Amino acid sequence: MKSITKQKTLEEIGQLLDGLNSVFIAGCGTCATMTHTGGIEEVAAMKLSLQELGKTVTGTTVIPAACDDMTQETIKKYEDAIGSADAMLIMSCAMGVHRVSLYHKKAVIPALDTLFIGLEDNYGEFHEVCAQCGQCVLGETGGICPVTACHKGLVNGPCGGTNDGKCEVDKNRDCAWTLIHNKLAEQKRLDLMYKYQPPKNYQVTPKPKVTKIT
Ligand code: SF4
Ligand code: SF4
Repeated sequence: MKSITKQKTLEEIGQLLDGLNSVFIAGCGTCATMTHTGGIEEVAAMKLSLQELGKTVTGTTVIPAACDDMTQETIKKYEDAIGSADAMLIMSCAMGVHRVSLYHKKAVIPALDTLFIGLEDNYGEFHEVCAQCGQCVLGETGGICPVTACHKGLVNGPCGGTNDGKCEVDKNRDCAWTLIHNKLAEQKRLDLMYKYQPPKNYQVTPKPKVTKIT
């Protein structure tokens, strides 16, 4: 499971860094490295790009896992280089950006857009598996998430547009509810296709989501 990110354009990053002339760049050694958006090579390339934009890069690092609380050790280690910068440019998912912001007063600028939590299908190809809806129905859908796999996020399906196992919204994609049907058939649990799922109650996912694990 990885946090899937894509790099913002250099133009966007330049706008975010407007008025911030010196920068410390931090990548992430976990998801952003796997997705080639914030690993060693991408951090080195970003350093060159920012220097071409006339920025001073006071230092760079790749934090082992930017979202982890051990990040504060890395921040301490680079205190001088971070202290002499106007801002930190973080090449990790939003969790990492948030984590870094807890440990320093410097402006924290994200270099990446966080897209979704996903799994890798093929090298460099990812798909969303969970939108963290707070009411998981996987136990009754053959382990396939209708919220993320169905174009309409239907928890009761299929819709009337499914055709030859393909989705009406995107004919290149399998209909999630056909996949669910086939999986439940394999499991001899097709009766679950007739079970009505109540509409999702988004009140169970208030913002921000909080929980206490006991
Ligand atoms: S139903 Fe889908 S989105 Fe909701 S918790 Fe389960 S896997 Fe995640
Ligand atoms: S065709 Fe299938 S995947 Fe597409 S919107 Fe309808 S139920 Fe969902």
